[in-house]
Amino acid sequence: MENKILGLHHITAIAGDPQRNYDFYTKVLGLRMVKKTVNFDDPQTYHFYFGNKTGFPGTILTFFPWPRAKKGKNGVGMATEIGYSVPEGSLNFWQKRFDQHGVNYGKASEEFGEKFLPFEDPDGLKLKLIVPKSVDSREAWETEEIKADVAIKGFHYVALSLYNQAPTAGVLMNIFGYKLKEQEGNRFRYITDAVENASIIDIIEDPAGERGVNAAGTNHHIAFRVKDEDSQEYFRKKIVEAGFNITGKIDRDYFYSLYFREPGGVLFEIATDNPGFTRDESLEELGSNLKLPEQYEASRERIERLLPKLNR
Ligand code: ZN
Repeated sequence: MENKILGLHHITAIAGDPQRNYDFYTKVLGLRMVKKTVNFDDPQTYHFYFGNKTGFPGTILTFFPWPRAKKGKNGVGMATEIGYSVPEGSLNFWQKRFDQHGVNYGKASEEFGEKFLPFEDPDGLKLKLIVPKSVDSREAWETEEIKADVAIKGFHYVALSLYNQAPTAGVLMNIFGYKLKEQEGNRFRYITDAVENASIIDIIEDPAGERGVNAAGTNHHIAFRVKDEDSQEYFRKKIVEAGFNITGKIDRDYFYSLYFREPGGVLFEIATDNPGFTRDESLEELGSNLKLPEQYEASRERIERLLPKLNR
């Protein structure tokens, strides 16, 4: 099979209080917690994964919630906006829901011909609900209060804020196979036709902006999706040839990862579809148990005692 970047795999952000983070994403937004694990480099911190019904790549937003995290600052050199796809006609439902739950949201508007509603999570992470022009047939997770006719389907795009968009666009186009689709003002929309959804990267060019500070309420990195490790290795070589430093393959239990910093300063990851979230839990059970990587299994009791309590 041809080696392709298959859009976004996941986005990882930093949060403060774990309970507040969990409640917001599962209860207010109605996403499914598809995995509850720990930060592999710091097992006293959770790593939450929120996604759609099957935990499909391109729907996964993950958090490291640190109860005492300082507040970060959205700014240049990071991913500054996450756009979620929602069904046509659902924005009124969401606006009412945001009112009921005291969610900080802005005025509904339109960009690239698509309606959106901007809002923030409790840590100030910037998100949008968007009604895409394209068809989105991904299967959403349903809750008591949020049914499929309004439920979030997964990512539509992620936006990067950069001083100069050209070098990063070079990586997207020459290595990852994206094309410039449209431009509105200082906003450049890149898209890959390798997949139908989660296929868009927007670059907001902001030459006078301030640098972001990576802490609570900001994104840590964005991961692009590849089918398997062969495909990942293919891209690793291309990235090395282009002169970037890239890590070796890292086992993240649910996928394999490579990381490199793109020229605009954003941390990019390349993550595989395999082995996926059903590696250690069935589809029905996803997210119901605390899963630990093998190296911490022997310390489970201690880790469970040290992790903040989480009420479901
Ligand atoms: Zn990642």
